[in-house]
Amino acid sequence: MIKQLVSDASDALDDPWDARGEGRIFTGAWVVAQGGAIEVTEPATGRLLTRVGRADPADVRAAAQAARIAQPAWAALPGAARAQVVEDAARVMGAMGDAVVRWLMREGGSAGGKAQVEHEHALGFLRHAAAMALEPRGHILASAPPRTSVAERVPLGVVGVISPFNFPLVLSIRAVAPALAAGNAVVLKPDPRTPVSGGFLIAQAFAAAGLPSGLLHILPGGAEVGQAMCADPDIAMITFTGSTGAGRAVGELAGRHLKKVQLELGGKNALVILEDADIDLAARNAAWGAWLHQGQICMSTGRILVHHSLHDALVDRLVAKARALPVGDPLDGAVIGPLIDPGQVARVHAIVEASVAAGAVLLAGGAHDGRCYAPTVLAGVTPGMPAFEEEIFGPVAVVTAFADDDQAVDLANRGSYGLAAGVIGANVDRASRLGARLRSGHLHINDQTVVAEPQAPFGGMGASGNGSRISGPANWDEFTTWRWTTTQPQAPAYPF
Ligand code: NAD
Repeated sequence: MIKQLVSDASDALDDPWDARGEGRIFTGAWVVAQGGAIEVTEPATGRLLTRVGRADPADVRAAAQAARIAQPAWAALPGAARAQVVEDAARVMGAMGDAVVRWLMREGGSAGGKAQVEHEHALGFLRHAAAMALEPRGHILASAPPRTSVAERVPLGVVGVISPFNFPLVLSIRAVAPALAAGNAVVLKPDPRTPVSGGFLIAQAFAAAGLPSGLLHILPGGAEVGQAMCADPDIAMITFTGSTGAGRAVGELAGRHLKKVQLELGGKNALVILEDADIDLAARNAAWGAWLHQGQICMSTGRILVHHSLHDALVDRLVAKARALPVGDPLDGAVIGPLIDPGQVARVHAIVEASVAAGAVLLAGGAHDGRCYAPTVLAGVTPGMPAFEEEIFGPVAVVTAFADDDQAVDLANRGSYGLAAGVIGANVDRASRLGARLRSGHLHINDQTVVAEPQAPFGGMGASGNGSRISGPANWDEFTTWRWTTTQPQAPAYPF
């Protein structure tokens, strides 16, 4: 059975949706979108990769209605049956590995290593979700006999997923897979710049795994599609991953329509390097955290806070790495690929230039060739400079020296974000004590800030979200709600 699934999917790995015609969206079948087409281009070269359908609000309405109709039968299946479909989707997605990695590289500008890791993580999220469908889903409550009283987690109905471009596959799948496993239907809006790796590959895997039609809809489009999802009466919950500004708009609109909302937003994540740190390891961690995927990660290390005694040694190492890392087309082996679009290049450059004008010292990079921004080292960055305050989403290592632990904590906690933090030092107890004072949803002692695992609850404080979490144990809280059921042998004889 699985062999057959895999070979069915492998036949159509390269362009599974285009084979069915241009301008399509996925609703269980590949259908023509009402909003026209989106041209998907390769950031490294500007070349046209494909055209996909552009959903419009009428597509959202139709998808949400179909999902609402399909969902109860799916929810009524035994958990083991849903687990089997999700597990099969993992196997198909595993067999699609080469095509998935290629799409992540071409459509999203991912370096090969990042694309491989994203594919592996996607499989992890699928497997974890399959296991979730087999877990206990309730409690027997201590009500007085003869009343039996059960608190049961039930699916919400239709879950709307809005995902970004930067880890398109993982950030879609980490919501789609547990939502389906818990018995929901899903309407997914991937970013219009990455609709294939953020949506259509997932549709392909679930379709080959036998997910019944109507339970998963992929609607590429822009903010107007996301807004229509927030207002749709058949969508019970919105899970959004993206910028804090757009997240706020989503939260406001979904709140007005009384939907549950999960917001996973931006970050300005501090890595604190203590004076007893191994400087070579610290530099590797800082470079990885700041430059992986061109800094386009919500968990990217946005502030490198280093004890002043190690400052020069750290900066020297970062500059050497910045000069050595290959920049360009990931298909040519570049480690630092392109930024997603020219607007983002201009934004990154403006932050670097404004910070230099405000007194920061540019030691490497600070220039771009097309969409490829050179890995950049900015030292002498202080609070108030744009590079210190803003989420850059570009390959910029922002270095600030501190004198003691109190100052490190103060610098790390400035601003409104609170997603991830790291502390590097030889004395683990001391590093942990300092870490406990940092305001962040994720804390890594002796690691940089870009760390995620399917079994770990993911999310931030402050402007990094709305206090919700996703993945691991958090998935039950997010993708189900409680239903309390009591049963008695006969109706009680109330006083009147
Ligand atoms: P973005 O907010 O512009 O877009 C994200 C998604 O939201 C896209 O699908 C987009 O089309 C949609 N969208 C945009 N405006 C909308 C609106 N008003 N209503 C409904 N949908 C809307 O984000 P981006 O710039 O493409 O992505 C980068 C941002 O995402 C960064 O801030 C980054 O930190 C954040 N991010 C957060 C996480 C996390 O888990 N916390 C993960 C990855 C990225």
